[in-house]
Amino acid sequence: SHAHGLCLIIDLLVDPENGVIGDANEIAGVGHRVVHGGERFSDPVLVTDEVIRAIEDTVPLAPLHNPPNLAGITTAMALFTQVPHVVVFDTAFFQTMTPEAYLYALPYALYTDLGIRRYGFHGTSHRFVSAECARLMGTTPAKINCITIHLGNGCSMTAVRGGKAVDTSLGMTPLAGLIMGTRSGDVDPAILTFLHREKGLSVEEIDTLLNKESGLKGICGQNDMRDIHAAIDRADESSPRAQLALDMACYRNRKYLGEYLAVLGRTDAVVFTAGIGENDAVVRAKTLQGLEHLGITLDPAKNTAKNSEARAIHADNSPVAVWVIPTNEELEIARQTCTVLAG
Ligand code: AMP
Repeated sequence: SHAHGLCLIIDLLVDPENGVIGDANEIAGVGHRVVHGGERFSDPVLVTDEVIRAIEDTVPLAPLHNPPNLAGITTAMALFTQVPHVVVFDTAFFQTMTPEAYLYALPYALYTDLGIRRYGFHGTSHRFVSAECARLMGTTPAKINCITIHLGNGCSMTAVRGGKAVDTSLGMTPLAGLIMGTRSGDVDPAILTFLHREKGLSVEEIDTLLNKESGLKGICGQNDMRDIHAAIDRADESSPRAQLALDMACYRNRKYLGEYLAVLGRTDAVVFTAGIGENDAVVRAKTLQGLEHLGITLDPAKNTAKNSEARAIHADNSPVAVWVIPTNEELEIARQTCTVLAG
């Protein structure tokens, strides 16, 4: 249960050998990640009854995520009764997008009545790495334009101008945009009605197909990029599809990168983060392949050097910097929680 899990975490925190605090009473506040804040939340907030109700109202937009997030909040509030609790929304960073970026070209009433629009996800990660990028480049977020590429199990790309998100690849749900482990990313929406008509697939079956059976897994049967590299290296009958899945994912990344270079105009940096973005030099190189004429040139030795720290991997003469920056959503949530607690 959530309660049992949290008790184990507290035991770890106060563990005399490996813990970081002496006593659970030293905890001054609890920060919670909530996936969907709808249009209501563009900043972290203190948990109140009203905030809980607002998160409940957003459940239809994130039926798989917001209910367990709420369960986590309720459990933690029962365990930490004396301290403030803060919610950090994964969608909040994208509330700076303008309607031309967040609206779909559907009947406008679907937006006003049902909230159908692009919300974006992984916001805590994009905010963290874009701010880190500015810091590492010796400046502030307000002074740089960057494109942040979060490639993990879920994948997303964000154009960030002066510290504010202007566009992002995930949409109303975390299914749109880039090719992911098991999620399709962009497809022609008419494929869904075609599948229904031709194969009689139900709404639930189409949902499962797009979210759990597509993406890298749909193409080659593997959803973990390490397994895909292993299949390519084996040079057996599974290799061509594994290679195709890798090539398709990198091609899609490059296509989105091109869009966001056009959206931003002046671009100071491209940032890779998350499991694949931080560890996979092949994906980084293939994603950026042929973009020299747009000012992006990798240094192959820096790209492939084993390193788990934040690092620049562009060539000295590359007008656009390329960074690998480990994401740290927990630290970002803790920082935002501190900011709210400080008033
Ligand atoms: P995340 O969602 O950020 O935890 O990323 C998880 C994904 O990162 C895994 O499914 C792998 O595909 C990928 N990944 C993790 N480590 C590596 C690695 N060393 N090389 C390539 N991909 C990796």
